[in-house]
Amino acid sequence: VLRYSAVVLGAGGVGKSALVMRYGKNVFLEQYDPTIEEEYDLTVEYEGKRSRLEIVDTAGVEQFTGINESYIQRGMGFVLVFSLTQEASLRDVDHIRQQIYRIKGGEEDVPIVVVGTKMDLTGEREVSSQQMKELAVEWGLPFYETSAKKGWHVNEVFNHLLARMRKR
Ligand code: GDP
Ligand code: MG
Repeated sequence: VLRYSAVVLGAGGVGKSALVMRYGKNVFLEQYDPTIEEEYDLTVEYEGKRSRLEIVDTAGVEQFTGINESYIQRGMGFVLVFSLTQEASLRDVDHIRQQIYRIKGGEEDVPIVVVGTKMDLTGEREVSSQQMKELAVEWGLPFYETSAKKGWHVNEVFNHLLARMRKR
């Protein structure tokens, strides 16, 4: 069985832990504990093939320090998370994205998926689908709109990343 590792990065409070918990355990994490730092070791089946997928849910407070660096070195693929309700968190994703390319050396083929969370909070939305489409083209990365609360498009994110990691 092939093994893959994914690291989930993004600002505090954007919904990283909720996203991973929805994917790994199919429950919604209601409480916010910014210090949660968890590793999941999952056996996943996608396109008829079984894989081991390790997911590292980072605490996200030290995003511009050296702590990220060891995560980035360790990860084969990355889920970069921002909240659709907080435009500033998208700029953090941009920084992390550049940090990944710097550490991994160039833009060749690092599997990255960008995820906007809290899609269910429509009244609080600050980032439009159009904005995401334009950035997807500019950055050359896939974007997803998700809701961990409702379970919308969460599996798609990890399936996409897994498919990208398998192709490497
Ligand atoms: P993290 O710091 O990035 O790990 O953020 P958390 O996953 O702990 O989420 C922060 C807060 O946002 C928590 O209270 C979550 O319940 C809430 N949250 C996360 N995802 C969603 C979502 O999809 N919809 C809604 N409505 N709330 C969410
Ligand atoms: Mg968390």
